[in-house]
Amino acid sequence: MKYQRVLLKLSGEALIGKQAYGIDPDQLNQYALEIKKVTDLGITLAIVIGGGNIYRGVQAEQSGIDRVQGDYMGMLATVINAMALQSALEKIGLDTRLMSGIKMDKVCEPFIRRRAMRHLEKGRVVIFGAGIGNPYFTTDSTASLRAIEIEADVVLKGTRVDGVYTADPEKDPAATRYQYITYSDVYQKGLNVMDMTAFTLCQENNLPIIVFDMNKPDNLLKLIHGEEIGTLIH
Ligand code: UDP
Repeated sequence: MKYQRVLLKLSGEALIGKQAYGIDPDQLNQYALEIKKVTDLGITLAIVIGGGNIYRGVQAEQSGIDRVQGDYMGMLATVINAMALQSALEKIGLDTRLMSGIKMDKVCEPFIRRRAMRHLEKGRVVIFGAGIGNPYFTTDSTASLRAIEIEADVVLKGTRVDGVYTADPEKDPAATRYQYITYSDVYQKGLNVMDMTAFTLCQENNLPIIVFDMNKPDNLLKLIHGEEIGTLIH
């Protein structure tokens, strides 16, 4: 196996699936099955899930809600998604723990790095909810930070697009996908991989990122086996 310990980042938006809002149960169960395929191989897996299907801090400003307040609302949204994902994973027999960046001891454990490491050693899938627990960050920054903390080999960013393109493929039909790209080329070309805070953290810590299409069955499994799909940023 190419990777032994990975951090999987899933966007909240991806959970909408065929619905207009919220969480599509089919999409959720599909993700759970894809995750099980890799944990069955003994891969150590941690997950960060976004909240964009429910709430985003930037939305708040438009509706007159204070930005910081909105960011906390967004963090709480990620906990809802994390709880849904935890339940889907447990339903198919995985051992999981949900750790939150904001203390809420009725529903999950607080994030304590040493404890997270122990869960991972025991083969539990650890889901990190509530982001970092601070406003002005995103779940991409959470993914980078937690990946470094747990000493992950790679951040796998599952999206609806199958990698990083020279231009937005939904707008420019001539856009082509990069198979590999360096951190500095991403900067120079102004490509959108993650927000800059998240991206810089990966670069400074030499943590590779793979952007790939999580909606294609077996893609996650193929990546673990070292197949070159998506775009590798290194
Ligand atoms: N958020 C935050 N701090 C964090 C993580 C998230 O303030 O550490 C807020 C922020 O407002 C963000 C929202 O939570 O917009 C939902 O997360 P994100 O937009 O990253 O979700 P995704 O786009 O992955 O669905």
